[in-house]
Amino acid sequence: MTTIWPELELLLAKVQKPARYIGLEDGSQRPHHDQRQVGWLLVYPDAYEIGLPNQGLQILYEILNERDDALAERAYAPWTDLESLLRARRLPLFSLDTHRPAAEFDVIAFNLSAELVYTNVLNCIDLAGVPVRSAERRPEHPLIGAGGHCTYNPEPLADFLDFVVLGDGEEVVSEITEVIRDWKAGGRTEGSRQHVLRALARIPGVYVPSLYEATYDGTALVAVEPTVSDAPALIDKRTVADLADWPYPRRQLVPLTEVVHDRLNVEVFRGCTRGCRFCQAGMITRPVRERPAEQVRHMVSEGIRRTGYDEVALTSLSSADFSGIEKVVAGTIADAPNGNAVTVSLPSLRVDAFTVGIAAEIQKARRTGLTFAPEAGTWRMRQVINKLIREEDLYAAVESAYSQGWRRMKLYFLTGLPTETDDDTLGIAELGRNCVEIGRRYHKGNASVTVSVGGFVPKPFTPFQWFGQNTVAELQRKIGLLRDDLGRGKGRPSANRGVQLKWHDPKATFVEGLMSRGDRRLGPVIEQVWREGGVFQEWSELFAHDLWVKAMADHGVSIDWYVYRHRTEGEVLPWDHLSAGLHKDFLWHDWRDALAEVGLPDCRWTPCYDCGACTGYGIEHIVASATPPAGGSQGTGQDLLGGGAVPVTLLGRKPEPVVAAS
Ligand code: SF4
Repeated sequence: MTTIWPELELLLAKVQKPARYIGLEDGSQRPHHDQRQVGWLLVYPDAYEIGLPNQGLQILYEILNERDDALAERAYAPWTDLESLLRARRLPLFSLDTHRPAAEFDVIAFNLSAELVYTNVLNCIDLAGVPVRSAERRPEHPLIGAGGHCTYNPEPLADFLDFVVLGDGEEVVSEITEVIRDWKAGGRTEGSRQHVLRALARIPGVYVPSLYEATYDGTALVAVEPTVSDAPALIDKRTVADLADWPYPRRQLVPLTEVVHDRLNVEVFRGCTRGCRFCQAGMITRPVRERPAEQVRHMVSEGIRRTGYDEVALTSLSSADFSGIEKVVAGTIADAPNGNAVTVSLPSLRVDAFTVGIAAEIQKARRTGLTFAPEAGTWRMRQVINKLIREEDLYAAVESAYSQGWRRMKLYFLTGLPTETDDDTLGIAELGRNCVEIGRRYHKGNASVTVSVGGFVPKPFTPFQWFGQNTVAELQRKIGLLRDDLGRGKGRPSANRGVQLKWHDPKATFVEGLMSRGDRRLGPVIEQVWREGGVFQEWSELFAHDLWVKAMADHGVSIDWYVYRHRTEGEVLPWDHLSAGLHKDFLWHDWRDALAEVGLPDCRWTPCYDCGACTGYGIEHIVASATPPAGGSQGTGQDLLGGGAVPVTLLGRKPEPVVAAS
C-alpha cells in the first residue's frame, strides 16, 4: 500500500493541530485498495474540525465502502502550516484513512457547502498533483467531482470540475461508480477521458460542465447549452424517495479531537415546505421526506450505545415538524443506557413549538446554548421573507427558556433583506433588548442575549434570486446603526448592557454573493485569488477581501453587475440549465408576493401551490399536527442546545459560519 505516513509523521510535531491528520477515529475505515475497484477520495475542503461531522460525506463513505467494486477514504483541507511543509517536501494531499496520495484515487469528490471554500478546492486539486483546469487533465488523472448545496450553481467552478451532482447522493454514487469501473476496465486509454465524461453526463442528476457552452450578448448571458447530443439540455436533481432505504450513517465517526457539532446526529427528514424566501436549503431539498420514527429511534439508541455520546441531534430543516418527534424524544431519554442523561437537540425547532414543557424536558439533561432565529426585526420584514413568527411567539419561547433556568441565549438575524428599512434594522436591537428584559424578570442582572447578524446573500432557486444584494457600505452602515442603537446611553441603557452584538463581515458576504450567482467568467477570478494565496476564506484571519477586489478588476468583472444588480424576470440566469424541481414562475410570483409583503402559508395546510417539487414522486406531505400552529405562526429556525441549524443534503451539512467580526 502506498502511504506518505512515514514522512507525514515527522511533520506533525511542527504543526498546530496534529490530530487533524491522524485518522483512526471510531467508525473510520482503512479499505484495502484493489485496482479493479473505483477509489473515491471524499474531500471536505475546509479544516478537519469543520468537515469531520459532515453527515453527507459520512453517508457516501459508508455506502461506497459497502460496494464490492468501490472503496472510499476521506480528506480535509490541510491547514496552512501543514500545507507549507507538504509543499516544501513535495508531498501531496493525502487521504486521512490510509494516508495515501490523493492522485492515486480514481475520483476526488468535493463537498461544496459554502461558496467561500472555492479557492480551497483549487488548492486541494493542485496539492494532489492534478491540473486545476479540467481541460488540462489526462486519462491518468483522477476525475474531479462535487456535490452539496453550492452545486445548484456550479458555474463559477465550471473550469475546474469534471462533473457535478445535483441533489441526494445515495443512489447516484453507485451509478457513477459503475461508469468509472467500466472505464477503468477498458484501460483509461488516450482520448477515453472524453468518453467517460459523456457517459457520466447521461446519468440523471450529473452535470459535466465541459460539455456545455455559455454564450453571451455583451455582458448578458444568453444560454448555457450542451455541445454534444448525449448531454441533456436540462439537468434535474436527484431525489431519494424513501429515507427508510438509507439508514446512514450506521457508524458515525467519533473524532479524537474537538470538532463542531460534536454529538450523535440523526437525520429525521429532508425537505421543508415552510417557504422562507431567503432559505435555499428549504427550497432545493423539497419534497419533504420523513424517516420512519421507529428507524430514527433505532439509529439513536444504536448510535448512543456505539459512540458513547450523551447528546443526540435530530437533524432536519425544522425538527418540530417531524411527525414522530414526541415519541422519539421521549424514547431517546427513556432508552438512555445505564440511566445516563442524554441530551436531545432539535436544530431548527420552531419558535412557537418551544414551550415550558420542552424547555423543562431538555433542561433536565443538560443546559447548554440556546439559539432562536427570528431572522428579521419587524413583523413587516418577516412577512416579506415569509418567516411568519410573531413577536409574542418569540417572547413566549424566550420566557419559557429563562423560566427554566437559561440565563443566556442567542438570536440570529439577517440584514440587507429585500425592502429592509432602517426601522426594520433597528427592530433587531429592540427585539434583543426586549428579550433581555424578559430574562431579568427571572435572573435580575444576569440575563443576557447575543444578537448575531449576518448579511443576506441571495441564492439560486429561491424567490430572492432576482434581488440585488446590499453593498458592503450599506451592510456596514446597517451594522453601524445597530452598534449605535445598542451603545451606552442609547435606547434603554440597562437592557442595552445585556445585549452583545456580533456580525458577519460584510466583505465576506460580498464574496459569497459574487460566487452564489456568478457564472463561468468568474473562474479566472477564483484561480487568481487562489494563486495569490487566498485560501481558507471562511476564516476571518485568512479572509483576503483585497485579493478578490484586485482579481475582479484584473479580469474586468464588475461588482455592481454580478452582486448588487437586481435581475429582471426574463433574464437568463447562470443556473437555468439546472433544475431543483421548482418552477421558475412559482419562484417569480413568490418574489412579487414578497415585495407586496404577502406571506405564503405552508403548503401542508393549504392546497398545493404547484411549486413543482413533488411532481413525479407520488409523495404526500406528512403533517405533524392536524392544524397550523396557533396564531398562524410558522416560524422556523430555532436551535436548541448548541450547534447551528443544520440542513442535510447530498454531500453535506453546512457548518456554522466561521467568519465573524465582533
Ligand atoms: S409541489 Fe405543492 S405540495 Fe409539493 S412542496 Fe410544492 S407547493 Fe408543496
